Amino acid sequence: MSQQEAPVIRVLDQATVNQIAAGEVIERPASVVKELVENAVDAGARSIRIEITSSPGGISTIRVIDDGSGMSPADAGLAFTPHATSKIASIADLDHVLTLGFRGEALASIASVSRITLITKPRENLSGPGTKIIIAGGRIITNTTVGAPEGTSILVEDLFYNTPARKKFQKTRNTELAHIHGLLEGIVLAHPSIAFRLYHNGMENLLTDRDATLPDTIARVYGAELARSLIPVIATSLLVQIHGYISLPAQSRKDHSRIRIAVNQRYVSSPAIVNAIKEGYGTLLAKDRFPVAFLSIAVDTTLVDVNVHPTKKLVRISREPEILHEIRDIIHATLFQADLIPGAGSPSQELLPEDNAEIIGERKAVPHPVSGDYCITDIQPGIVSEPTHAGNLMTDRQLRQTELGSGVPPVTLHIPPLQVIGQFGGIYILATTDTGELVVIDQHAAHERILYEMVSTHGEEDQLLQELIVPVVLHRTPRESAILRELLPALSREGFIIEDFGRDSFLVRAIPVFLGKPEDLSLIDEIISDLTSPESGQRVDNRERITRIIACRGAVKAGTVCSQEQCQRVANQLRLAKNPFTCPHGRPTLIRFSKEDLDGMFKRT
Ligand code: ADP
Ligand code: MG
Repeated sequence: MSQQEAPVIRVLDQATVNQIAAGEVIERPASVVKELVENAVDAGARSIRIEITSSPGGISTIRVIDDGSGMSPADAGLAFTPHATSKIASIADLDHVLTLGFRGEALASIASVSRITLITKPRENLSGPGTKIIIAGGRIITNTTVGAPEGTSILVEDLFYNTPARKKFQKTRNTELAHIHGLLEGIVLAHPSIAFRLYHNGMENLLTDRDATLPDTIARVYGAELARSLIPVIATSLLVQIHGYISLPAQSRKDHSRIRIAVNQRYVSSPAIVNAIKEGYGTLLAKDRFPVAFLSIAVDTTLVDVNVHPTKKLVRISREPEILHEIRDIIHATLFQADLIPGAGSPSQELLPEDNAEIIGERKAVPHPVSGDYCITDIQPGIVSEPTHAGNLMTDRQLRQTELGSGVPPVTLHIPPLQVIGQFGGIYILATTDTGELVVIDQHAAHERILYEMVSTHGEEDQLLQELIVPVVLHRTPRESAILRELLPALSREGFIIEDFGRDSFLVRAIPVFLGKPEDLSLIDEIISDLTSPESGQRVDNRERITRIIACRGAVKAGTVCSQEQCQRVANQLRLAKNPFTCPHGRPTLIRFSKEDLDGMFKRT
């Protein structure tokens, strides 16, 4: 090989370098919106206007106009240079950076993959005329002096025109618009004092007021009904200061799209913090449900590393485990000081899929009491039903198990004394309070909660298990067997004595006493299936899973007709629960109606 051959390695020219770098910061149209809006926030804008135009093919133009500090002609010329920033001077400044930007990359990146028109004029106290710069593919095309209002307007057109691969990866217009909306929701909530206006193809989409409070802003974005029902959070602990709002458990959602977190006023996405918030709810929420939370978290800036990702949407927090703990505890304490019984007027939760599994609401035809005509009804008129003898005994046994409560009664009772009126539909217990409210209790959810607390607080010395007269043999698939083998020690602590019998079969010798007498041995099979089925969503430890399953399987079922006395026992036991408001999966156990609620429904004023 000749020594004279030209080297294969070459140093890329600046324009190419910038385009490659742009890929990190500017992933999609929403990234442009984010960078421009954050610059406007950093410039001290009091109002920010975002104008988007789109065609069916995608986002066409993005313009952000602010009334912030503006730029002098010299600064305007520098703003598009890579690594040009007014926000930090050295790496040490990162320890206390309060601005959203600091990398000096955004404008250079956007400019290298689009065509930009900048018009800017410094505020009165800063000198200089207005400047207009047009820059395309990173090259300045014109730079002129113009008359302009104070502040900055940046128009971005032809995004990704010179990076076809990136352009091709843009999703449909609606997907990109959804990204822009989602992003702006987060930014808007992090800065309630700034007025934001979003226009899409000339139509106003989102608007918030200047100097608004957080609840005002939440109401603007998500509606007044949600804003009204939220619980305020204001707390300071060792490492964090939190203020914001969280939802009642009953307003949970199936995803965390309504958890918006700002750390030191920076809207961030943090799965760890989302999880800490969820943990604060504990069993008030089902494992696959998420609360609504709008929280602003202040942490010492030296503990937050904002420079971990080019888009700065992720932050790294040192002492994270302690901080997450504090967040979780604050959420927990806030919830337990709040009134968690959903009222008749509270917005109802989206129906949980598992609801349908338990509630026995078979449609059947019954004759109309007066006309004798058949009509379709969803529920049996339970108030007048009498339990069958066998059912009665079974229910009595289940209630006896939980009669003693979980030992120490809670210091404060969350629910007033309840006087049972009757049972409805084999599911709902109707009761009144001494303050004249009507309370409807879901009998299965309530008893499940009671049993859950009992099982989860039982002591080591308690007599937990009942031996089966005839051991039951279970056959499992090899995969299930492997899981089950792992679980055997945890199961034995909860009262299941199960032996590995080899060849993927197991011998069940004893089961927890809380399960009552297993009338039906398939119950055991079902419990083991529950335990070995792959878990979805949030992970809980084995003991917790076993406890929840025992509670669910051992509790009085929906569809069990109970006597008035039995209903009263459920109500009394529920009052003694530490957390009487939800079942271990997070569904409500009771809902109350005040006389005013009913008057309202009947339009009596
Ligand atoms: P960064 O925000 O990280 O400093 P950018 O590339 O986003 O980097 O912006 C470069 C510089 O341009 C900023 O530091 C700021 O001085 C100036 N600038 C950008 N946008 C605005 C604006 N809307 N108003 C005033 N100055 C701005
Ligand atoms: Mg910036």
